[in-house]
Amino acid sequence: MWTVLRLLGFSGVHRDAQASHSAKQYHGLRNQGSTCYLNTVLQCLYMTKDFRTAVQSFKQDPQDSNQGNAGLLLQLQNLFGELNKVNATTEGITESLSINNGELFSMFLVTCLLSVLFTLSYLFLVYEQQDAVEYYQRILKQIVPQVSQVFEGKLSNNSKCPDGHIYQEKCPFITIPLAIDTGHDKIYNVKEGLEAFFQPSQLDEDNWLYCDQCDQKTETETWNEIEEFPTVLTLHLKRFDFDYMQMRHVKNHCPMEIPPTLQLKDYEYDLYAVVNHSGDRNGGHYNAAIKSFEDNQWYCFDDSSVTKYSVDALQKSRLAYLLMYRQTAPSRRNFTLQKLLKSTALRRMTSALHNRFIIAGVTAIRRMTSALHNRFIIAGVTALRRMTSALHNRFIIAGVTAIRRMTSALHNRFIIAGVVTTCLVTVMWRMFRLRFPKS
Ligand SMILES: [Zn+2]
Repeated sequence: MWTVLRLLGFSGVHRDAQASHSAKQYHGLRNQGSTCYLNTVLQCLYMTKDFRTAVQSFKQDPQDSNQGNAGLLLQLQNLFGELNKVNATTEGITESLSINNGELFSMFLVTCLLSVLFTLSYLFLVYEQQDAVEYYQRILKQIVPQVSQVFEGKLSNNSKCPDGHIYQEKCPFITIPLAIDTGHDKIYNVKEGLEAFFQPSQLDEDNWLYCDQCDQKTETETWNEIEEFPTVLTLHLKRFDFDYMQMRHVKNHCPMEIPPTLQLKDYEYDLYAVVNHSGDRNGGHYNAAIKSFEDNQWYCFDDSSVTKYSVDALQKSRLAYLLMYRQTAPSRRNFTLQKLLKSTALRRMTSALHNRFIIAGVTAIRRMTSALHNRFIIAGVTALRRMTSALHNRFIIAGVTAIRRMTSALHNRFIIAGVVTTCLVTVMWRMFRLRFPKS
């Protein structure tokens, strides 16, 4: 009987039904018509523990003008709530993303016009940005920093002239772009690609930078450094490239060697999500392979279907397009640092202080300290933590001192005012009595 069914093509259906049964706890997102890029990104965000918690605990504060696209965040909150129970739709998200599309659209039009004026290829670059990576960044950039900060790190772009004058430019980043420079059939090694990203390189003479101290354009060496390590490190494997000979985008389908863990300075990262892209730039399809933080199993999120996934499929992957790594711990190399990080006293103190600040409410200084505090936690460095706690303390001390000074000044002023008034009243009373003595 089964043989007949299998021959008739029923085996696939049976297997799918089985797979979706065992992957029951996760739910898919319905495709609104080529919105697989959005569904994929949303599932990656949903499956990021810290982000999910931050979204779920977000409370809109109409008094706070610094809440970014609060509508989008509330839609995410709704969506995450639904995803807990059923297959969900993304209409709310696309709607709140298009709230800002008015602005984006006019920017887009201007860019298009400029592009037409300058080069045709630039126009293609504008179109190129409408992909999963672009949406990943767009969503995260529109959300309040406190919620999206698990994905944010700080990069320092350095340049040096032959005389050793160094210039640093620091900027926040969400993804690290890795140029794929191997041929279509050679294996691209992600670990080596990432190492190359941090290697110094010499700029072409056309791109030499002006050195203020040498007062001329000089040979320039540049390199990148991570200044603040993000909790989630995202690598963008740039498979799409513009081919000037063919005047069109080409996709590099080369197989990739994807490391399950990464070691960056004192930080260890574990791979937990891979955005896959199949097909070409036009008419391609996205899905995501994600390792659950709840049961440590890998799942494939493909629009409305969620199935168990074999991690072996990531070996020599020709589809991997975006890699997400979660910071696990500072490495064993720095055991003392790790120990210090885990020293509960310090943690409890900062967290208690932090909570107190949050509970106390929202003021400019508090927001600042809390933002600083959060950013420092991401950096995960004890020294920085101590500094924040010191900052916290300093703010408290500063606050207390200020209040004390203020009250003591007030006291003094009251006393002086009182004394002066008393004196004045006495003098006036005496003068009054002298003028009009009691008869
Ligand atoms: Zn110089």
